[in-house]
Amino acid sequence: MSRPDLLQTGPMMGMIEAQLGELFTVHRLDAPDAEAMLAEVGSRIRAVATGVGSTGGGVRRVTDALMARLPALEIVANFGVGYDSVDAEAAGKRGVVVTNTPGVLDDEVADLTIGLLLATLRRIPQAERYLRAGKWPTGGFPLSPTLRDRTIGIVGMGRIGRAIARRLEGFGRPIAYHSRRPVADVPYAHYPDLKALARDVDALIVIVPGGPETDRMIDAEVLAALGPTGVLINVARGSVVDEPALIRALADGTIAAAGLDVFADEPNVPEALIGLDNTVLLPHVASATHVTRNAMGQLVVDNLAAWFEGKAPLTPVPETPVKGR
Ligand code: NDP
Repeated sequence: MSRPDLLQTGPMMGMIEAQLGELFTVHRLDAPDAEAMLAEVGSRIRAVATGVGSTGGGVRRVTDALMARLPALEIVANFGVGYDSVDAEAAGKRGVVVTNTPGVLDDEVADLTIGLLLATLRRIPQAERYLRAGKWPTGGFPLSPTLRDRTIGIVGMGRIGRAIARRLEGFGRPIAYHSRRPVADVPYAHYPDLKALARDVDALIVIVPGGPETDRMIDAEVLAALGPTGVLINVARGSVVDEPALIRALADGTIAAAGLDVFADEPNVPEALIGLDNTVLLPHVASATHVTRNAMGQLVVDNLAAWFEGKAPLTPVPETPVKGR
């Protein structure tokens, strides 16, 4: 039997590409002749593999317009728990299943978030740059803000938000959170109003999904509420923060500092952010370890393999539930 046709939207990890090559006839959307390829094989494509992965750059969106060119499409497997680059609602309407990679990265992302929080507060990269520049003999590195006197607000109390909160408990700091619905089994104070949370905490950690509903929810007003000693940590998506408003807030002292793993237009980071000394900036690496990226990659392949064996996919997204297959 011939292998099903799969469309890969961009480069993926070697271990994913090797397995896809064994299971599918793979066509590449990032090939120079992509238009001709789509015209020729678009009607045969039954699966799409997509996601940020190891591409080191922006990701090709799986839009309704792209899916319209793939009438035989059954499944879109996304590398990453965040699938804001896939129009999952449109997929649902077309009867296409979307899968993501939840759970396997929670601890890794939470670890990095704590690291970024401490790096931002204690100015660890700045202190290291100071030493490397040979400035230590000329005087001590300036004193830094601390985690010790802070209440921490978490925006998003899902799988990763909880993993972050569990770690913060070990630091003995009070925790509160914002999400649309309170979470039944966590002991932290729930704030239905994001601005009220920002007002009451000294550090805001953002870990909600991207997409239209969270677009620029961290705006100038939220930053003003966070206040001049406040720090912002964003490990969610760049779209969640109003980046120009954040740059202004960092430059004029509206907030104290920011630690950012994600940006509005990756991999392009505004010069204004790079030029500020009160930022710690990372190239979207929260899940980027060998162990965790391999687990995510395997889940991409396993979802596709299960589907084409006639089984239910392992991790469909809520917009495209699969019942009994
Ligand atoms: P979950 O779906 O488990 O949790 C999402 C949380 O966000 C829930 O508490 C949800 O609560 C809340 N939320 C969703 N929409 C809104 C909204 N409009 N307003 C307020 N709260 C909202 O997701 P995960 O914890 O697994 O992942 C969260 C996100 O983290 C991913 O979607 C991804 O974008 C990002 N991420 C980033 C990584 C990186 O490399 N930097 C790595 C991994 C994930 P409720 O629905 O009640 O509002």
